[in-house]
Amino acid sequence: MSSARLQTALARYDRLYINGAWVAPEDGGLMESIDPSTGQPWALVAYGGPRDIDRAVAAAREALSGPWGKMPGHERAALMRRFADVYAKHAADLAVLETTDSGRSIREARADIGGHSNGYHWWASLADKASGRTIPFDSSVHAFTTRVPVGVVGAITPWNVPLMAAAWKLGPALAAGCTVVLKPAEQTPVTSLELGKLFEEAGFPPGVINIVPGYGQGGAGERLVTHPDVDKIAFTGEGATAKAILRAGTTADTLKKFTFELGGKSPHIIFADADIEQAMNAATNSAWTLCGQSCALGSRVIVQRSVYDRVVADFVERAKKVRVGQPLDPATHMGPQAHHEQLAKTLAYIEHGRNDGAELVAGGNRLNGGAYGDGYFVEPTVFAKAHNKMRIAQEEIFGPVAALIPFDDEEEAIAIANDTPYGLTAGLWTGDTGRAHRVSSRIDAGMVWVNTYRFIRWSTPYGGFKGSGWGRENGIEALDSYLQTKTTVIST
Ligand code: NAD
Repeated sequence: MSSARLQTALARYDRLYINGAWVAPEDGGLMESIDPSTGQPWALVAYGGPRDIDRAVAAAREALSGPWGKMPGHERAALMRRFADVYAKHAADLAVLETTDSGRSIREARADIGGHSNGYHWWASLADKASGRTIPFDSSVHAFTTRVPVGVVGAITPWNVPLMAAAWKLGPALAAGCTVVLKPAEQTPVTSLELGKLFEEAGFPPGVINIVPGYGQGGAGERLVTHPDVDKIAFTGEGATAKAILRAGTTADTLKKFTFELGGKSPHIIFADADIEQAMNAATNSAWTLCGQSCALGSRVIVQRSVYDRVVADFVERAKKVRVGQPLDPATHMGPQAHHEQLAKTLAYIEHGRNDGAELVAGGNRLNGGAYGDGYFVEPTVFAKAHNKMRIAQEEIFGPVAALIPFDDEEEAIAIANDTPYGLTAGLWTGDTGRAHRVSSRIDAGMVWVNTYRFIRWSTPYGGFKGSGWGRENGIEALDSYLQTKTTVIST
């Protein structure tokens, strides 16, 4: 196809959403968004530059002293509920767009995005609940606290789950009364821009939500984190990026608040006394979820030696049954990797696994040609005889690659589980209640699941220990991070 014909076939998202209007980028431009199932561009998308971020931040600041800033919590809640209902109406279309932009399977996208409206309702229910307290003194003073919004929030999201990452930030930010500049990742920006239409339909005042896709270093992302008028950055992405953000001189100068939701290398421990069938369902499902591109992936499967061979054999059987294919096909379990760099990274780690002496027992190859065309598909991959010091066990691959590591006893399982720079999530399967308590209490992770996996709700705080982040998303804890305490003392 000639490039001229290709251009006319592309969907156009050529405006940024700033101050309640759809505007052309001032110092950004247009970028192509790639459909990873074909390797071809499918949309032309506006991206913002530093001046566009400046416009968005100014609008967000002004909105704090406009109707939104003056709105009592219950009215904010009503508006948020309206948005949640609008979201529910469009959820099916959003799922199709996110699948096209990111390659995640439509069955996963529907299940995930279909639940976001509930999340926005949950956050709406908290919009009028932030209360302070009275501090006893004597009759000459009245001292009390109020909880007030932190102000303008820069929300920076990753490419793997753009709508979920946005919901986890927008929900608590709006419930707290903040205003937001949302900067989605350059690889999957489309559905975040769609959110602008939904906020318009719900009747949000201008400037409360601004959406500016863009690049990170040297682009919109860097301007947002260094902007003096942004009060908080809510960031989800890689640890290396978080460190770069903290090191950037002008970021430090502005003394912002930060929450960081970073990567993981989650242990999934299976004891011999577990319900092995249930454990296998969870372990294999978690290994291929989002084509392996999930921060909560239980990709280090730590298995008691007496059931190790059985688990390896079952993993291999189940890997063969994963239907890898066109992500919009409802029968597909696993789509392609979301972009070409991630495909290359996953394939490189499969090489590391081989070179480091792990035994490749399933998958290991890119799938292309034929029905896969030039898409970024990879086979579900399983390594047996893995050791925790191998790179495939220590580093976040973000691909559908499971490393199966044997252990002998509880102490060894805990030692292996904690032998990682990460501490986001962990899974533990056992039929012994005492062991469930003993082991879970010693795992260094922000979220430990026992006899379940990936149980994530709006009400359950989520976030990392160690190199997996700062702060929490979801739960009341998340709301707290968008509020600050103000103490007022009135002399009577
Ligand atoms: P990334 O760090 O490369 O990019 C994340 C975002 O930061 C993007 O929007 C990017 O444009 C922006 N960015 C990059 N450099 C920047 C800079 N210098 N200043 C400001 N912004 C900058 O991460 P990614 O590759 O998009 O996402 C994958 C990572 O996200 C994985 O490590 C994954 O584990 C993590 N993740 C964590 C969670 C969680 O809840 N803990 C959820 C999803 C993804």
